[in-house]
Amino acid sequence: MRYTLLLGLALVASMMMLSGSICGADYDLQKTPSSLKAPLETISSKRVATAELAATPRAGQVYYLLGNLDKLRGTVTTDAGAQETSFQGEIGFKVVPDKDGQMTFILESLNLVSPGVQTNKGDSGVIGINLADAGSKSIYDAKTGNTVAEVRTVLHYDLIDEVMGFIREKSDECAVFNSYTEDMAGTLQIKLPERLKATDQAEVSINGEVRLELKTPVVGAIQNTLVYIDASKLIWYLTRPAQVLNVQPVYIGTGSGDPAATGAAFNTLINRAAEIWNRCGTVRCITLRANQPIYINNNAYRLLTSADADPAEAAALRAEVNVPDAVEVFVVERWDPLFDGGGACWSSGTASAKIITCDQQLNVPCPPPCVGGGSCGAVNLFHLGHELGHSLTLGHPSSPGSLIAGTVGSLMEPSGFCLDNPNVQSAKNCRSATSPLLYWGRSICTKSPNIMD
Ligand SMILES: [Zn+2]
Repeated sequence: MRYTLLLGLALVASMMMLSGSICGADYDLQKTPSSLKAPLETISSKRVATAELAATPRAGQVYYLLGNLDKLRGTVTTDAGAQETSFQGEIGFKVVPDKDGQMTFILESLNLVSPGVQTNKGDSGVIGINLADAGSKSIYDAKTGNTVAEVRTVLHYDLIDEVMGFIREKSDECAVFNSYTEDMAGTLQIKLPERLKATDQAEVSINGEVRLELKTPVVGAIQNTLVYIDASKLIWYLTRPAQVLNVQPVYIGTGSGDPAATGAAFNTLINRAAEIWNRCGTVRCITLRANQPIYINNNAYRLLTSADADPAEAAALRAEVNVPDAVEVFVVERWDPLFDGGGACWSSGTASAKIITCDQQLNVPCPPPCVGGGSCGAVNLFHLGHELGHSLTLGHPSSPGSLIAGTVGSLMEPSGFCLDNPNVQSAKNCRSATSPLLYWGRSICTKSPNIMD
């Protein structure tokens, strides 16, 4: 597991570009290494300009103060004692000055991801923490700069899935394997500059910590976490920047020179996924970034048995690669016999989310092997966009389970293997999408959702 992790990181560092636009679509599939997050000052969202700096900020003007968190030290107390680890993620406040110039801070995002720690029940695997409810009011003391927010968070780690199994969101046409999660509560305590004003004069340095305690155990191997926010930088914005989701493709073959390697469908699928998620643009900019593929040299994975008939086979494939900061997308040749929509998402909405799909998505056999017919050939162009929606905590509209129900008639409708998911994005899907893997990045979203609700 550690080996595959290191392999993943090494490949991320030697990133290559993915192909560009489809049909002239103006989306933005990121092409830079996931390990090199865009410096905040280069993020292409509207910054607070000097001209807009006011000694008394305009009441009601909304500002955003946010930043990525890198290489944070953390102590995770498990049933095996205290363990040191590192975290990365993002933090974001919405800041609203009142007419007296007092500023109200609302903690809108806090995402933390760690490679994991040892517990008495085994390696935790990737740990993901994110806010249970966005919009936690924070108290900022202008005299001291001390800022405190009470936070409730969702906690998930791989070991929970191993111990508890998955919650199957039942649908005849697309398989979703959701995770049990645990709740934590505690405080974010940081020191901001005194008498802080919205300005572009400098980055805002913060120091502090996040202390969280387990409230509703499911497995309970992690009891509390303490994450030190040392020397992190925040920047003021007038508009929220894009949030980036990293995707890690995994193919079956010996390497990029293997003509028989799987993954032929991936570039088309990821470009369509990037295009439909870019449509969130005017509501909330969400962008995808794809790593260079990782190859598994084991032909036994080319053809998967239906995950219902043999769940161990798909589980073994998923266990082959763990990249902590990305959604792994495993591309096999096909499922035999046909498995639901020919693809599925496990650990939806968590930092451990993984998708298995197949090249046959764009090469559906003729006649269509589905009850009731359908199409054959390059059918499922938006299939990966749909599965990535699951990784962003969205469920099907018709079968609300532990996820947030997607919009009726949108991309999140299941469609089966012989019919594509709707080429329709919705504002609600965009607003509801959440994952501990999201971080602030450089992108411009210019499109709008098809359904504005
Ligand atoms: Zn689905």
